[in-house]
Amino acid sequence: MSAPNAPGLAGHQQEQFLQVLSRDDAEAAFMAALGPRPLGAEEVALEALLGRVLARDIAAPVDAPPFDRAVVDGFALRAADLFEASEAEPVRLRLNPEVIHCGTAPALPVAPGTATPIATGGPIPRGADAVVMIEHTEPEGDGIAVARAVAPGSFIGFAGSDIARGQTLLRRGVVIGAREVAMLAAVGLDRAPVWRKPRVAVLSTGDELVRPGDPLRPAGVYDSNGPVIAAALAENGCEAVHLGAIPDDEAQLTEAVRAAFAAHDALILSGGTSKGAGDLTTRVIAGLGAPGIVAHGVALKPGKPLCLAVCDGKPVAVLPGFPTSAMFTLHEMVAPVLRIMAGLPPRGAARIEAVLPLRLGSELGRTEFAMVALTEGPEGAVAHPVGKGSGAVTAFAQADGFLTVPALVDSLAAGTRAEVTLFGVGVAAPRLAVIGSHCVGLDAVVGRLAGQGMTARILATGSQGGLAALARRECDIAPIHLFDPATDSFNTPYLADGMRLIPGWRRMQGLVFRAGDARLAGKGVAEALAALLADPEAIMVNRNQGAGTRVLIDRLLAGARPQGYWNQPNSHNAVAAAVAQGRADWGVAIRPAAEALGLGFLPVAEEHYDFAVWQDPRDAAALEAFEAALAQSRDELHALGFDPR
Ligand code: AMP
Ligand code: MG
Repeated sequence: MSAPNAPGLAGHQQEQFLQVLSRDDAEAAFMAALGPRPLGAEEVALEALLGRVLARDIAAPVDAPPFDRAVVDGFALRAADLFEASEAEPVRLRLNPEVIHCGTAPALPVAPGTATPIATGGPIPRGADAVVMIEHTEPEGDGIAVARAVAPGSFIGFAGSDIARGQTLLRRGVVIGAREVAMLAAVGLDRAPVWRKPRVAVLSTGDELVRPGDPLRPAGVYDSNGPVIAAALAENGCEAVHLGAIPDDEAQLTEAVRAAFAAHDALILSGGTSKGAGDLTTRVIAGLGAPGIVAHGVALKPGKPLCLAVCDGKPVAVLPGFPTSAMFTLHEMVAPVLRIMAGLPPRGAARIEAVLPLRLGSELGRTEFAMVALTEGPEGAVAHPVGKGSGAVTAFAQADGFLTVPALVDSLAAGTRAEVTLFGVGVAAPRLAVIGSHCVGLDAVVGRLAGQGMTARILATGSQGGLAALARRECDIAPIHLFDPATDSFNTPYLADGMRLIPGWRRMQGLVFRAGDARLAGKGVAEALAALLADPEAIMVNRNQGAGTRVLIDRLLAGARPQGYWNQPNSHNAVAAAVAQGRADWGVAIRPAAEALGLGFLPVAEEHYDFAVWQDPRDAAALEAFEAALAQSRDELHALGFDPR
């Protein structure tokens, strides 16, 4: 095992990071060393072509349709016979003794003064040059009467009119979708040459990693990078082979990396690039082949520890361990190369302009990516930065795209119009934007709306942030729980002119503790608090400034500063987790958070969780749907431990 803090390793690390390359220099070095190109073509059967990239132009080997055919149900005839036809003097035609169905070759010619019944798709018989619709004829004896003239060629689909033999049907580089499958099948092709997919091995590294599906052990973290990298590679035309997580052990990692490298066209690792890890992964790949590492340390944020290598003509990348860093560096620096190897064109990124609601600080000297969620504001789209910090995997779920802040820019002012690169085509602001304090009960209500087909987005910013966004009309609903000591009431005093409150529910907040803690179990709140404050060994967990719960905690403490006061996480769940895992002995949270982890709970005060909205909303129908969903969620809210109003 490597000793993470050994001075030698730290020195080595330092050296490597001194040569941080700019984004563009790193890309140029990677491209130059690799010279990426498609790997070669293979013939693939029609059934398996969806999503594959055509390696050569395809010319149609036959005409489609292969013969002249009727495009309506009616009668094949000679247009010249009807030149004189009119309502006043319909022309009478004799019927030939055959009916041409789809798939029947005609046996009899159409002589002047005759017609042959023909079905849609039936081949046009010799002699006929037009088809008249059945609706435009009248039966008359053993023939038909036609009261209008038709132009030659009417209702005939001519051979090759759809696709002419020899015509280029599909061009190389096209990604085969249902349309392309249809075209190949229509000209009788049951296979096509496509680029071979790059087979890319994906390895996660870290002693802490646990396979999703297995139980989480103490200090364990689920391996999310492996599956998400594999999925992103598949989206970019590769065949990803996820080989699981390898512990931070040089011998094991070397063996796994060697085997994976030998058997695949490319290798993507994640983790083990930050200082604490002693640069293990980078050292292991350095020995894989020439020329080796071309960039280690790139001026990206997040993503600085990225390492790019080319070994014996194959790309190898070590992505930073933090999930968002891993995704950004993959998409920005590695996916473009793999797309070339897969024969795909560069990803056509969809972009829109959006307004930044708040100032966005950025580090000078690094190309910075900030994930944003979109809402509809008074002047078009608004881009709310989400998931500060590269560790947030959920930020991806909330975000619609990202902003790129160039290396030489140190901040974007509030109100700046910036370009957002969307995560997918067709990504748009949700119909209903909910910004403010988060509560699991809210998930239930919004989940019901989503079930009804209404797109909604929740951004957890805290009550104050939500009210500010509502004031700027950048959201539709601001869930808040703000106590006003002056009036001894919740929420209403905080509304601006023109706003109203939709009553939500009450949440019981209380002291949470590990069941059986004698300082609290069975005690009253005052007595329990006195015992805790008198015990120098007791450690609390606080809440962040601005949280409604923090106001309550400060009132309870009445100026006391017990151990743990400066530990200030920003959610009820984080408080419960700290207590359940023994990092703290007590804190204040809502009852459902305590119950979820089997903690003891002493009720302190009920908190009012309501929804601030405008009296003249942007989308009244959406708001009505929200209120209806709220009313329909009563039972569910009760079951979650809330008291709906
Ligand atoms: P590292 O680059 O190995 O020092 O990892 C940096 C951070 O990313 C640590 O918090 C790791 O636990 C986390 N991390 C590394 N690999 C993964 C992974 N495969 N899935 C989720 N988190 C990871
Ligand atoms: Mg690690």
